[in-house]
Amino acid sequence: MAVNTSKIKNEMPVQDPKKRARNFDEVALGYTEEQAKNEAARCLNCKNKPCQSGCPVGIDIPAFIQKIKDGDYEGAYQVIAKSSSLAAVCGRVCPQETQCESKCVRGNNGEPVAIGRLERFVADYHNAHNLGKVDAVEPNGHKVAVVGSGPAGLSCAGELASRGYEVTVFEALHTAGGVLVYGIPEFRLPKKIVTGEIKNLKARGVKFELNTVIGKTLLVDELFEDGFDAVFIGSGAGLPNFMKIKGEDLKGVYSANEFLTRVNLMKAYKADSDTPIKHSKAVAVVGGGNVAMDATRSALRLGAERVVLVYRRSEAELPARKEEVEHAKEEGVEFMMLTAPVEVLGDEHRNVRALKCQKMELGEPDASGRRRPVPVPNSEFELEVDTVIAAIGTSPNPLIKNTTEGIDVQKWGGIITDEHGKTTRDMVYAGGDAVTGAATVILAMGAGKDAAVQIDNAIKAKNKK
Ligand SMILES: Cc1cc2nc3c(=O)[nH]c(=O)nc-3n(C[C@H](O)[C@H](O)[C@H](O)COP(=O)(O)OP(=O)(O)OC[C@H]3O[C@@H](n4cnc5c(N)ncnc54)[C@H](O)[C@@H]3O)c2cc1C
Ligand code: SF4
Repeated sequence: MAVNTSKIKNEMPVQDPKKRARNFDEVALGYTEEQAKNEAARCLNCKNKPCQSGCPVGIDIPAFIQKIKDGDYEGAYQVIAKSSSLAAVCGRVCPQETQCESKCVRGNNGEPVAIGRLERFVADYHNAHNLGKVDAVEPNGHKVAVVGSGPAGLSCAGELASRGYEVTVFEALHTAGGVLVYGIPEFRLPKKIVTGEIKNLKARGVKFELNTVIGKTLLVDELFEDGFDAVFIGSGAGLPNFMKIKGEDLKGVYSANEFLTRVNLMKAYKADSDTPIKHSKAVAVVGGGNVAMDATRSALRLGAERVVLVYRRSEAELPARKEEVEHAKEEGVEFMMLTAPVEVLGDEHRNVRALKCQKMELGEPDASGRRRPVPVPNSEFELEVDTVIAAIGTSPNPLIKNTTEGIDVQKWGGIITDEHGKTTRDMVYAGGDAVTGAATVILAMGAGKDAAVQIDNAIKAKNKK
């Protein structure tokens, strides 16, 4: 197939911004076969594979793109599946622009190959044609417990199941999937995609114990007493950080975690929901990451007339994915940059009536390398809103550490491990956001898979003695 010399990527078909701003259906619609082949033809099949070095789990990117060129989409999926067990998820939410695509040589003179969009195409093709096809694995007689069913836990469970382990995933919530189901909204990652991946794991023998909080319902020590040879902790970083400003306890202030969980998981937007959510007119979302973008866009979809993103640095420093920022803007979210909240103001019924803000300017770079926001004197003003959502980061929950002997954690709560996920307690491993703090799906998956290999080695080594 001849190389496609176009400097720009094939556009991703999307729902019309005006329509999609008021519905929860998926925004990006995916490539057609023709668009996927045309995009694949932009890949030069570089011998030194720079793109692969930008992928945290090392997918053989030129090999899977070559299979698309050949029209062998299932073959392409199998190449990806060697390194990633959640291709349909990663193809949708991975920050490709800072990973594989940032290394693509086509980016030196034009746009890089749309690797993420191609991954999504291949995974969706596979799911439409082969979902549930499983190769039987001989059981090896050993049991491993996985705590948490987010990407770290799921990829650890998948890797161990493929090595013959009997794996049980313990999940605190009533639905499996972690942030993929309770955090990332339906319009970016349809729940059926995650459900499909979990169905695949179940078909491979992985058991799920929902509504089970390890550290409360069952202790880590009790898991060992129940005959588990090892425990993997993938409990994430679900504890929201607060703004620590006056008025944060008023009615109408939410953490992004609470807001998104209620909307995504508890279907709070439905009139008959057990946990109904306030129908806001004007919403301020504080923060600038993917979580903040998801909160603004969900608030719009719930019917708010005005949604304002309040971020203390400039647009260049926004940590959210560029595509999400563009989509939010197209849908009508207002971006109020170089602005920080100083107080939430309430009415006589303790309902939010405004967010008092202060303008900022950028000073010298701080420890993160980004220019530090500095308040502009006498620049305070009131932003009239009835809802404030804080999306300023999360930390790991201390429950497991507090109830388990021998698991050391960092000052900020992250579980301490070696580079392969081994904690300070024998046969207890950890990975994902519980170790790194809030990060990305692909890093959590990589950590889960890596730990599974170490768990396998450790159990084999014990049994040789
Ligand atoms: C709104 C939002 C948007 C995001 N967008 C993106 C994106 O676009 N791209 C991207 O790459 N990343 C994104 N991220 C980050 C990404 O989702 C996380 O880095 C990733 O999910 C971490 O995976 P994990 O498996 O470590 O933890 P989680 O996904 O947090 O899963 C942990 C699971 O453990 C369960 N659990 C916790 N404690 C216990 C316990 N004691 N017992 C039993 N179960 C327990 C939790 O209920 C949860 O289900 C986003 C995060 C959020 C919140
Ligand atoms: S760097 Fe870009 S062009 Fe080269 S193999 Fe990777 S995706 Fe293809």
